[in-house]
Amino acid sequence: MDDTNYKRLISSSGSKIRRELDSVPKTGALEIWRSERKMADKNSKQPENAAGKWYVDTTCVPCHACVDEAPNLLQYSEDEDYVYFHRQPEGAEEEEAAEFALQSCPTEAIGKDGE
Ligand code: SF4
Repeated sequence: MDDTNYKRLISSSGSKIRRELDSVPKTGALEIWRSERKMADKNSKQPENAAGKWYVDTTCVPCHACVDEAPNLLQYSEDEDYVYFHRQPEGAEEEEAAEFALQSCPTEAIGKDGE
């Protein structure tokens, strides 16, 4: 499978991955990791994030799910190893898109407590 097809596959299954992670029994290493993590870490932001409250941290895989939810706000790094907010949301519609992006992230790499 080439890179494009792989990214397409991952993109279409990002929300599915999140649902499957949510369905994992509430015991075991994954649940412990998720319960300890809970949210993105503003001290580990990707450096390209636009200044502001929204950011992607260094746990981005990347799976593309958030880009589908907020294509005007998020973009891939030059080497396509992660995504970041190339600008902050403006207005209620873009804030909502950013929220959907946060909810779609299977690794909880998106935060909104930045500065
Ligand atoms: S921030 Fe989350 S949803 Fe977006 S590409 Fe990275 S891992 Fe996927």
